[in-house]
Amino acid sequence: MDNKSNYKYLLSDLSSLKGVGIKTKNLLKKKKINNIFDLLWKLPKSYTDRSLSSKIKDLRIGEIQTVTITPQKYSFPRVRNLPNRVSCSDETGKIDCVFFNSFEGYVKKILPLGKEITVSGKISFFKDKYQLTNPKYLSEDSSLIKQKHNTYSLTEGISEKVYNNIINQIIQNLPILKEWHSENILEKFNNISWNDSVKELHKPENVGSYKKNFYQRLAFDEIFSTFLVNSEIRKKIKKIKKKKKIFDLKTQNQIINKLNFSLTKDQQKTLKEINNDLCSSVKMFRLLQGDVGSGKTIVSLLSAFNTINSGFQVAVMAPTEILARQHYNLAKTIFPKNIKIKLISGKTDYKNKKYILNDLKNHNIDIIFGTHAIFQKKVSFKKLGLIIIDEQHKFGVNQRKKLSDKGGDNCDVLLMTATPIPRTLTMTVYGDMDLSIIHEKPKNRKPVKTYSKLDIKVDEVIKFIKKEINLGNQIFWVCPLIEESKKLDHTSAIKKFEYLKKLFPNQVLLLHGKTDTEEKEEILNKFQKNNFKILVSTTIIEVGIDFPNANVIVIENANKFGLSQLHQLRGRVGRGDKQSTCILMFKSNLSENAKKRINILKDSNDGFIISEEDMKIRGFGDILGFKQSGIKNFKLADPIHNHDLFLVAEKEIKRIENANEDIRKFKPLIKLYDRADIINDIA
Ligand code: ADP
Ligand code: MG
Repeated sequence: MDNKSNYKYLLSDLSSLKGVGIKTKNLLKKKKINNIFDLLWKLPKSYTDRSLSSKIKDLRIGEIQTVTITPQKYSFPRVRNLPNRVSCSDETGKIDCVFFNSFEGYVKKILPLGKEITVSGKISFFKDKYQLTNPKYLSEDSSLIKQKHNTYSLTEGISEKVYNNIINQIIQNLPILKEWHSENILEKFNNISWNDSVKELHKPENVGSYKKNFYQRLAFDEIFSTFLVNSEIRKKIKKIKKKKKIFDLKTQNQIINKLNFSLTKDQQKTLKEINNDLCSSVKMFRLLQGDVGSGKTIVSLLSAFNTINSGFQVAVMAPTEILARQHYNLAKTIFPKNIKIKLISGKTDYKNKKYILNDLKNHNIDIIFGTHAIFQKKVSFKKLGLIIIDEQHKFGVNQRKKLSDKGGDNCDVLLMTATPIPRTLTMTVYGDMDLSIIHEKPKNRKPVKTYSKLDIKVDEVIKFIKKEINLGNQIFWVCPLIEESKKLDHTSAIKKFEYLKKLFPNQVLLLHGKTDTEEKEEILNKFQKNNFKILVSTTIIEVGIDFPNANVIVIENANKFGLSQLHQLRGRVGRGDKQSTCILMFKSNLSENAKKRINILKDSNDGFIISEEDMKIRGFGDILGFKQSGIKNFKLADPIHNHDLFLVAEKEIKRIENANEDIRKFKPLIKLYDRADIINDIA
């Protein structure tokens, strides 16, 4: 195979590189570097200039310098702790090369007597003589030493020299890929090729040149390839023909009329968008995005109802059982009695499960609620018409596509997320889906008042809570970890529970990740019934839970959470028409920066603004755990700094879509950047 024009070289295994043995390979694997392409993004963080050499008499002590010397005499003391020593000289003076923990053979090999050797390193001075200790840069070929050497943030066990060596090898063997971009795009980057861009990227003097054309081009390639894959998936889904769903809006409206509130304009608008999709002959793949408490559940349940009305089954998947049960209960309350509703949970025993599976297969169940368990292999439906997935921002493109495929062609897909993310990010993460957004919150909402308090002022917080409880209100108390962890110094929920129980006898409940399912349910029921006033918990209540009577949330160690996460937690209150309060607790005084962050939260109740700020501070990978999600993180591109490139990419994708351009020329790009098995079948 001709390496020079084939991208496949870049995807080949690391062992094909000289100097990479099993050990190095495994170390790199730990850093998620699996092939040659991955190594391209291991960038130098600075460089050391070893290009200028001096004579021994001009050496400056304490600095890294390069000098050409001739070894004259070995001294191998063979006494533990005494170093091996090689006396060297040039015509102007003397210098010793000193080796600790070295083998004689090795020393003789790298510093043969009488040969001119160029060495580079930090010069010291010992017993009236210049000295180089454990020199690493030395060669008979002075040109190998006299250059700029990149400095990498090192993977433990791999030296700089090894990095330099393997990365230089890759750069030298870089295949010359056929250009994939159109002229109008290339012009924006002064027509620099992918190949040249990579070369520039690794030049020591280019460290940190984010604004230069090579960097921008490579960042653009990343963004563009992501968008292109999204676009391909969209196109594929739009091609799927499905059976139109036929239903009567009258019955839907009967349900709406019975609600104890009226739908907001945005709820009506998004419901209409979803209904239109259900009624069309194109498969729906839609995201319903709306801030916490914006009322997505009712919209999704109404569309579920319409789907059932048109003779199909519906599956609703929630990230936690608590949430699945809550949706299930709501459906039971608002749907007519003739609709067969079931919940499958960890609690469901084997026999019942068997019945449920059977009933799903025979269409004796119209709608099923559950966690990811409802999409296991053994679960099959007679006539699945809609999948609703709640709060699954951690699902990547691949997982979504699999779910959508599992439902079959006639099955529409609706995802919901309360993660209001900036538009550039939405395009990146959800670009394969159509988008419905709920901007406005129900009118009865008052913004949650947000305060910060030092831990030592907990008495004031207790006083405040007492007052609220006397008014009939309920309180969430959130602690970050289950058990005391010395390392993280988090407050434990258990300890806090014991503490609060003494102050509020018989009024405090505890919920954490290790509470078993049955118990969990009981606890939440007790809280819902307002028998207990305070629910101490870990972040388990973060997602989706709806207790309109709770109007105070206390969050301990608030500095351990990101802004978006705090906003989500805060969204657990402020759901009724009472004034709600969020108290952020801190162990010590806030730094100026932390204050700034918290003020954003105090000043705004708008998740979109908060996430934008969060992203500026923490980078997009960190927002609500996108990083753990398997959602691809960019290597160079950055949604904040490269905002313009995202817009260019969006425009170019539209152009390609409209012109119906053949995308086969992008194959190397997609193969390299996305490794998207989803679109394996593009030529
Ligand atoms: P989220 O969008 O975070 O999933 P939910 O669907 O859980 O929000 O709704 C939050 C609360 O708002 C629920 O108690 C729900 O009954 C209530 N709600 C939904 N829509 C409205 C509305 N139009 N007016 C008043 N309350 C509403
Ligand atoms: Mg929700």
